[in-house]
Amino acid sequence: RGGQAQREIPFAQPGSLTKVFAIASGKGGVGKSSVTVNLAIALAAAGRKVGVVDADIYGHSVPAMLGVADSRPTQVDDLIMPVPTASGVSVISVGMLKPKRDQVIAWRGPMLDRALVQMLSDVYWGDLDVLLLDLPPGTGDIAISLGQHLPGAEVVVVTTPQEAAAEVAERAGTMASMMHQRVVGVIENMSYLPCPHCTDEGKDHRLDVFGSGGGERVARTLSQRFGYDVPVLGSIPLDISLREGGDAGKPIVEADPTAPAAAALTAIADRL
Ligand code: ADP
Repeated sequence: RGGQAQREIPFAQPGSLTKVFAIASGKGGVGKSSVTVNLAIALAAAGRKVGVVDADIYGHSVPAMLGVADSRPTQVDDLIMPVPTASGVSVISVGMLKPKRDQVIAWRGPMLDRALVQMLSDVYWGDLDVLLLDLPPGTGDIAISLGQHLPGAEVVVVTTPQEAAAEVAERAGTMASMMHQRVVGVIENMSYLPCPHCTDEGKDHRLDVFGSGGGERVARTLSQRFGYDVPVLGSIPLDISLREGGDAGKPIVEADPTAPAAAALTAIADRL
């Protein structure tokens, strides 16, 4: 910004009352973005003022999941206004900073750093109770930038029960710790598939589609490594309507709040 002093990140100021949670995962496809949007809606439903920063440069699926894929932020003076969703959440996405939706982002570290800082400091967030950041999977540039700019952000690690997913999730957690961020817990997603036939008969048969134990394993490893308790915050079952809700821009916590997956997400939000 020509000659102007860089605006400070409000969430990094000592008196900030906003809780910042970065939602991280080791690899893609484990449901990190789905978890982020549903937690945001559950927190908003509980009366908290919630903002979401979609910093997943490769995925940036948060706007579509929240039903605002085609919205663009407006500008007031030199501040960017975040996009409001039907569920009362304010969202800004790295995808919204591109001129065209289908444009591919091939940014290197410094550009990514600038994009992240812009989403934190040039956006008019108002007085938020909670800010959720959907990080890209893995231990890349954005995670390092976030650690530098917002060391006070707390990190939530999302994994599936699968051994291979858990192993990379541990690395994402360790990376956050190296950046002096606290890992507040682990969420196991896609934990099991409630057998639809057995449910019909009143039984509770679960299919371990992705194996079992990944969430516990990550929590145990990180607790040992860091010397403080990193709990499993909750487990979310596989649910077709969770996927459908994301595709339709109406996340399950809003569309079908009594579904077991939605109830699990709401219970996790209550612990944040
Ligand atoms: P990530 O952000 O980790 O890449 P996404 O949130 O985009 O993952 O999820 C990947 C896909 O899996 C999406 O199509 C999403 O709807 C689906 N999905 C995520 N969690 C669940 C779940 N618990 N049950 C059913 N589908 C899910």
